[in-house]
Amino acid sequence: MKLIIDEKQIESVLSEAAPSTAEVSAIISKAREKKGLELDEAVALLDGADDSTLFSAAAAVKKEIYGKRLVLFAPLYLSSYCVNDCAYCGFHASNPSPRKKLSHDEIVAQVRVLESMGHKRLLLEAGEHPDNSIDYVTEAMKTIYSTKGPKGQSIRRLNVNIAATTKENYARLKEAGIGTYQLFQETYHRATYGKLHCGPKADYERQLTALDRAFEAGIEDVGIGALFGLYDWRFEVLALIQHAQYLEQKHGVGPHTISVPRFRPAPSVGLQPTAFSDSDFLRAIAVLRLSVPYTGMILSTRESPSLRSKAFELGISQASAASVTEPGGYGKAATSTAQFETADHRSLDEVVLALCSRGLLPSFCTACYRSNRTGCDFMELAKKGAIQDLCTPNAALTFKEYLLDHASIETRTQGEALLEKAVRKVQGKTGEELCRRLKRLEEGERDLFF
Ligand code: SF4
Repeated sequence: MKLIIDEKQIESVLSEAAPSTAEVSAIISKAREKKGLELDEAVALLDGADDSTLFSAAAAVKKEIYGKRLVLFAPLYLSSYCVNDCAYCGFHASNPSPRKKLSHDEIVAQVRVLESMGHKRLLLEAGEHPDNSIDYVTEAMKTIYSTKGPKGQSIRRLNVNIAATTKENYARLKEAGIGTYQLFQETYHRATYGKLHCGPKADYERQLTALDRAFEAGIEDVGIGALFGLYDWRFEVLALIQHAQYLEQKHGVGPHTISVPRFRPAPSVGLQPTAFSDSDFLRAIAVLRLSVPYTGMILSTRESPSLRSKAFELGISQASAASVTEPGGYGKAATSTAQFETADHRSLDEVVLALCSRGLLPSFCTACYRSNRTGCDFMELAKKGAIQDLCTPNAALTFKEYLLDHASIETRTQGEALLEKAVRKVQGKTGEELCRRLKRLEEGERDLFF
């Protein structure tokens, strides 16, 4: 049986001799066809391509598939109770700091704050603990979907990142309206995984096979990721590609998203991360974009604003903004009970303004999930690069809502100018319909999508 992660194959590819210039250039040409890369090709680019060639190929592929939109979201931490003692996480069981689990009323209050900022999609997070049962999580989802702001604002898509669980529990998440189920392997290197984990999460296989159970339970969109800084970054990049290939072969659908978090300091965590420079980080993002071109790529606020700007250009298609990583933290002063330290402390409006100034279209779109364009249906459009025909008009509609309901004066001025340019590029019947719908938003309607 083919292994999900074949460490021997990865190690062997990593030890291959550096490629020639002609080989690198042939691989770049292949990558530009947007059909993905094999492991040996990915490593040839990691080691042999110059930054400028690699980054411009990745930027072109990202633009040809997703256009100029960047989807924004925020994490919502439900509970910091956790039975696992992971060496890299501020919620680890032996951290004596106080814990917090949000009550129904606290969830409502947090959602109201996020809605008032302008967020429309959230990523739910909770530690692994008997108190954070599937009943609690699905009840929280129900509460969040039904909490409306004063102008009818709502959270329209909930992605979920909870510990690996059973097929039955994944079916419950599906029933409760999950968008994407995200689960990171943290490190794909089995021996390192064993050293860094203690508790039920120490079971490498349970973690690695969780997405298979999620698919079997009917969840159609899953997200993978590695926490860079735990083991050699080149190994993790290849393992992510291998995992993506496995999911596509086994389930006919590759990962809806790949996340690329890097280790950050956290309360009561003394781990020293492995070396991974900013420039190597950008190369890793570019190579992943070229190797798995159809996937959404997610960047968190673990990275600084300047590095995030660069990464948005060359592969990232979704980003969290104005994140707080402790339960109940939105709308309050920061305390020392966060899961990790963030490096981008800007407000959502500041992030949106920065995107506008770089010509990227901020998006709060949730249209595919709500139109049942999930799983294979979504992948088919993404692989052809046809998804941007929906992403751009949907980004325009949701950005317009943001400008009308939440933006500062400066963001509104710059945003309207950017929006006008973006809308002019949408041709034909869709362009005409988009203009009509933008007018309807100005007249007070909300939540229009293609
Ligand atoms: S149209 Fe679909 S893929 Fe594009 S941003 Fe909206 S939900 Fe995402």
